[in-house]
Parts: sequence; structure tokens; C-alpha cells
Amino acid sequence: MTSWYIVEMILPAALEDPACAVLEELGSVGWESRAGEPGFSSVLAYWADPAPPGLGGSIRRRLETLAEGLAVGRPKVGPVSPLPAEDWEANWRRHFRIERPIPGLVIHPSWIPYEAGPGETVIEIDPKMAFGVGSHPTTRLSLRLLRACTGADRVLDVGTGTGILAIAAARWGAVRVVGVEIDRAAVVNAVENVARNEVRGVLRIVHGGAGAVKGPFDRAVANLLTTELRSALPDIVKVLRPGGRLVVSGFLVSEEAAVREALQRHGLAAERSAREGEWGALLTRLLTRESMVG
Ligand code: SAH
Repeated sequence: MTSWYIVEMILPAALEDPACAVLEELGSVGWESRAGEPGFSSVLAYWADPAPPGLGGSIRRRLETLAEGLAVGRPKVGPVSPLPAEDWEANWRRHFRIERPIPGLVIHPSWIPYEAGPGETVIEIDPKMAFGVGSHPTTRLSLRLLRACTGADRVLDVGTGTGILAIAAARWGAVRVVGVEIDRAAVVNAVENVARNEVRGVLRIVHGGAGAVKGPFDRAVANLLTTELRSALPDIVKVLRPGGRLVVSGFLVSEEAAVREALQRHGLAAERSAREGEWGALLTRLLTRESMVG
């Protein structure tokens, strides 16, 4: 049976986003973050057994360099501790509950049944190692902006994770939805969640990036880290029809100006923005050639 290693960290909040990218590079299979003391986040990161040699030292060194570069306080990194598989499962399940990311939408895991109330859209998501149960501000922001431009149209979800945004789009009436995902474990999880929600007829999960699918799509959504968004944009605009909409989230409010600029360079004009805490989201429209000239 696979067992796991966990490392607990207390990070200055500004360090959390770049730190997670470093944890991923160091082979972490997942992490959870919880708000800590004001201005700090407590992050619990997981590694599959066997953990890379010298893991504790590597984490410390990399995070300290990062903190110096960003001129923020020093991170506190706990020991690399083994966690037996059963504890992982129980521990992980304890963290999930029923989420109401936006009014009228309920997300629940399979082990907490939920009866739909009048007018409610209910989605069952078992997240496993994938991201997206509706508890993260960027998922909520993406859902909010996606809901605002919903229709009987064709939707692409870039970085589908658990499949949450793609499933929601299908439930809200999209006629064709494709969720693309580069992480194989997340693809498997998304496929399971699609089957759970009886949206199979309209929704397909594809392993790869936006370049792996054929357009045109009327809408796309990309809840990705800023660096990932930048590299995905050229492929996204290729499959989005002129006049189509793109919802982006996953960036920090402090990155919004740079994100807007990158979007503009690809012909995407912001129509609406939304924020939650330090996270931002934008609803944009792909300008047609004529409107770009005019
Ligand atoms: N859409 C979900 C999950 C977002 S997490 C939600 O909003 O909650 C971002 C996901 O994007 C991760 O699962 C990551 O593996 C995936 N990803 C990152 N870059 C990608 C790319 N270029 N193409 C497709 N998937 C990508």
C-alpha cells in the first residue's frame, strides 16, 4: 500500500503561490492550505513514498531563497513525517464538506449525500488528488463569471482538475463541453466525476492542453497559475471563436495589470472583473479583426 510523507509549513501569505510551484517542482503530489495567523498561510504538502532524498533540506533552501527574493519573512518548515495510507484517506476526507461556491450551486462529495432543494444545481465531486471542490476563491470566481455568460453553447475548460467548472457549464445548459487537463491523475479523477454527474452526453475530458482540441468554442474558462495561463493563451485563442468569451482566474490581484496586458496582446478585452481576497478573475471577449482595427 502506498504511504505518504507530509511536510507542514507556515508561510508569509505572499509566498504561498510561488511556494506551491516550488513544491510541485520538488515532486509534491498535492497540498492543502489553510489560512493561518493574519498574513500567514499554513500549508500541508504531500509526497508519495519514496520521498526524494534530502527533501527537507531542499524545501528549506528553495523557500528561503524565494522569501529573500520577494523580501518577505522567513518560512517555517516542519520535518518530513511519514503518514500511513489509511490516515491519509481519513485525514483527506475530513477536509471536505458541502460547498456552496455561488448562490444556487451545491458541491458535495459522494460520502456526504445531498438532496437538491428547489432551483438548486447539485454536483457530486470526489476530488482525490485533483484540484477543484469549490472551496478555493479562484474556483468560486470562475464559477461566478462563467455563470454570468452562460448559454446553450460550446465551452472549453482549460485545466479542468476535478472537472468542476466543466460539469457546472454542462449543467447550466452548454451543448458541448470539453475539459482539458495535463495531469494524468486529474484526468482520471475528472472522468470519474463526469460519470457521477450524468453529463456524459455533452462533456468530454481530454488529456493535454488547449492545443489538443478542435474548436471553435463560444466560451472558455482557464483557472490557472499566471505562468501557466501565459503559455496556454496562444492555444486558447486559436480555438475560441471571434467574439467568444474567456474567463480567467488563478492570478493574484497584484498580478492583474500584467494579466490584462497579456490578454490584450492576444486580442482579449476585459469586460468584467471580480475579486475575492487577494485573488482575481476576469471575463474577457475575443475581439474580432474589425473591432481590433476600429
Ligand atoms: N478548474 C479547476 C481546477 C483548477 S487547478 C478549478 O477551477 O477548481 C488548475 C489545473 O490546471 C491543474 O489541475 C493543472 O494540472 C492544470 N493545468 C495547468 N496548466 C495547464 C495547461 N496548459 N493545460 C491544461 N491543464 C493545465
